[in-house]
Amino acid sequence: VARNPGEAEFHQAVREVFESLEPVVARHPEYIDSKILERICEPERQIIFRVPWVDDKGEVQVNRGFRVEFNSALGPYKGGLRFHPSVYLGVIKFLGFEQIFKNSLTGLPIGGGKGGSDFDPRGKSDGEVMRFCQSFMTELYRHLGEYTDVPAGDIGVGGREIGYMFGQYKRITNRYESGVLTGKGIAWGGSLVRTEATGYGTVVFADEMLKTRGESFDGKRVTVSGSGNVAIYAIEKVHQLGGTVIGFSDSTGYIVDEAGVDLDLLKQIKEVERGRVSDYADRRQSATYQSNGSIWDVPVDVALPCATQNELNGEQAATLIRNGVKAVAEGANMPTTPEGIRAFQEAKILYGPGKAANAGGVATSALEMQQNASRDSWSFEYTEERLTSIMRNIHDMCAETAESYGAPGDYVVGANIAGFEKVAAAMQAFGLV
Ligand code: NDP
Repeated sequence: VARNPGEAEFHQAVREVFESLEPVVARHPEYIDSKILERICEPERQIIFRVPWVDDKGEVQVNRGFRVEFNSALGPYKGGLRFHPSVYLGVIKFLGFEQIFKNSLTGLPIGGGKGGSDFDPRGKSDGEVMRFCQSFMTELYRHLGEYTDVPAGDIGVGGREIGYMFGQYKRITNRYESGVLTGKGIAWGGSLVRTEATGYGTVVFADEMLKTRGESFDGKRVTVSGSGNVAIYAIEKVHQLGGTVIGFSDSTGYIVDEAGVDLDLLKQIKEVERGRVSDYADRRQSATYQSNGSIWDVPVDVALPCATQNELNGEQAATLIRNGVKAVAEGANMPTTPEGIRAFQEAKILYGPGKAANAGGVATSALEMQQNASRDSWSFEYTEERLTSIMRNIHDMCAETAESYGAPGDYVVGANIAGFEKVAAAMQAFGLV
């Protein structure tokens, strides 16, 4: 804490992982001598830079850009870019730290990194977003490469932003290096299923957890927080598996739609019009919009937090439990506070932490890199099959690891240990680097 002052989210993420690791270190005394734990929470490299750009009024704006290249033991740094006003070093470091273990769990050769900016894309014109992205990439490009560091999207960064950044990278370097960014458009090196992957994967993970208790999504009532990329495709997959999503949200309020979410309408509002969830209630009779209270007040069988960090606290977890929730799977990164996690675990609710449950996005990014490397593109069906089997593997690996360390059913312990073991073994093999 003294070494990284004021980085509350980073401290929270490290504490959560380290709490699980005691029994692993006990089995590997060599990790103490080589200071693996001290090394793993120190990023290999951190880049902080100025991003100047000109808005539509002709005024100069200045933002701060970040890229934290956390760990490359298993492959090139891999992790998204977040554009949101709340971004500062502590947020990027927490996300980068989580990413190390998540990427390890996918079984694919990718290290961990994360980046972004305090730029707020909301309310900005296309031209402003383009000028910002170009300026951001004008510094970032020198740190990237398909064997070095491969960013993707996250909050506030979708296909449009990746397009502007890829265009600028290509222009500056004079290289059509498809594998340098993932989440690209289908026409220019993107992978089918990447858009859907995080949301779909989260629901597949939740489904695997439900199966351990002889249950499925069929007939279940579900809420999904957020209404962005992850939330929309989580809703789609729940509906495909026979469940009904009755609520979603954004940072200003939430929708309850007892008739079940009309996904076409939601996509139209969010993906085409870039509108707000309140617009949905204006256009759908069965829906109500609430700006007070919380989406977690709604009684459901399955809750899928897919918005942002610390969006589900101890009290809200207690409300969900009282209302009979059976499973919680995190599409977002660290959305549940430590008190919330404790409440779910004490009540024996199936609880899938983000680093396992939302790994489908980065896994499919690694599949995009594979397609780029072989100058190939796979069908939707084949790519989704790969995604589903990766998510099932992650589920089983977490469950088996938890069991073998005497904590059956504890997906937090399972994910942290299974993710850590491979990275630690590689770091140990490389010596002191
Ligand atoms: P988007 O920008 O597409 O959507 C984010 C959604 O979350 C929006 O609906 C936004 O609402 C809402 N939100 C943001 N901040 C808050 C807040 N403080 N309170 C309530 N709602 C909020 O991002 P993604 O869907 O890509 O990402 C969502 C989460 O999933 C993040 O935690 C991200 O790190 C994680 N994730 C994403 C992956 C991906 O592939 N995209 C991969 C793995 C994890 P508003 O418009 O009001 O801000």
